[in-house]
Amino acid sequence: MDFNFGDEHRLICEEARKFAERRLAPVVQELDERQEVNLDALRELGSLGFLGMTVPEELGGTNLGASAYVGVMIELSKVDAGTSVGVSVQNSLVNDTIVKWGTDEQKATYLPKLATGELFGCFSLTEGNAGSDPGSLKATAVQDGDSFILNGTKNFTTNGGFADVIIAFFQTDPERGAKGVSAFLVPSSTPGFRVGRHENKLGIRTSSTTEMVFENCRVPASALLGQLNKGLNVALTTLDGGRVGIAAQAVGIAEGALDEAVKYAKERVQFGQKLADLQAIQFMLADMATEVEVAKTMLYRVAWLKDTHQKHTRESAMIKLFASEMAHRVCHKALQIHGGYGFMKEFRVERLYRDQRITEIYEGTSEIQRVVIARSVLAD
Ligand SMILES: Cc1cc2nc3c(=O)[nH]c(=O)nc-3n(C[C@H](O)[C@H](O)[C@H](O)COP(=O)(O)OP(=O)(O)OC[C@H]3O[C@@H](n4cnc5c(N)ncnc54)[C@H](O)[C@@H]3O)c2cc1C
Repeated sequence: MDFNFGDEHRLICEEARKFAERRLAPVVQELDERQEVNLDALRELGSLGFLGMTVPEELGGTNLGASAYVGVMIELSKVDAGTSVGVSVQNSLVNDTIVKWGTDEQKATYLPKLATGELFGCFSLTEGNAGSDPGSLKATAVQDGDSFILNGTKNFTTNGGFADVIIAFFQTDPERGAKGVSAFLVPSSTPGFRVGRHENKLGIRTSSTTEMVFENCRVPASALLGQLNKGLNVALTTLDGGRVGIAAQAVGIAEGALDEAVKYAKERVQFGQKLADLQAIQFMLADMATEVEVAKTMLYRVAWLKDTHQKHTRESAMIKLFASEMAHRVCHKALQIHGGYGFMKEFRVERLYRDQRITEIYEGTSEIQRVVIARSVLAD
């Protein structure tokens, strides 16, 4: 692969960087305190084309591809990982899924509006008793003539509080467990649907995470996304792409923490010298910069596999695992370099440290990534 991405890639990343500095940085601290979504910024990202990066141009998208998507995610995540996960969900979990599995009618109805931020989407798989094990879903979709009736509660849905359309997973043949799951596209205006509890979180507090409650919610049979009882396949292929987005989020958070640590080490004086002059601090910075570089290099390789339509299940699990655990180590060191000040909310590193933690959990925990990788290694 060619690491010379060219001017277009540089300009896209530059635009995302400027947007993050102009629209996210001035308010992120306050919104984090209040646990509020920056919905205006998300809409503006839509008008800039950053919500339609995986959507073909004829369906209203910018079709910039996975490498550009990764670059944008890194820039946004450096500043506000709560907003960046909203971008990731819209591009990877919603639009990508409709592009891959939607009927022509579903694509024409939703994609032009999702790509521009006129509509927002979310992806509701997790339930109280079905997290790492999505085959044990309990929510049901029962066919009734030309409709399905949806019942059940989904947990922890990102973008749930403001989504206009929900990609949700239900048992259509409960006897068959994982082989009886189907995916549906449900407008949030459908009678019988309501948003449940809004979660109070440790990190990514500028994102919305909610329960999604379906009570005798009737949708037409045309709401089925992909084939009946093949929903788990829809979910798992979606997560291959989603994990690339979360890995980019982790790289962005780590890069942001490294920048903060470098800045602080050059300013803070103890024992008559700058922290940056102490070898103990220099070695930490060297390790942090090396780890970020390694993760970024592999991240772009996985994006290239996706852009060139090659299978990347194993590689996306690897980069999600490595980048998220790398970000953990880097944020830990960045906070340590700040000493007691890093523990205070006035310093950006405090939020980055909290925001990083989720990257090891959602779209498959680190343990689940190891299961996916080990299965692939052992099958070779
Ligand atoms: C902020 C946030 C946003 C989220 N957004 C979404 C979203 O938009 N849509 C959505 O559907 N879900 C979302 N999730 C859910 C997320 O994907 C799950 O929380 C995650 O997959 C883990 O599931 P669980 O929480 O039920 O943990 P569990 O599955 O109960 O796991 C608990 C522990 O056991 C380990 N474990 C479980 N099974 C195994 C195994 N076979 N081998 C080894 N270890 C194992 C796990 O790694 C973990 O350490 C979100 C979660 C959070 C916190």
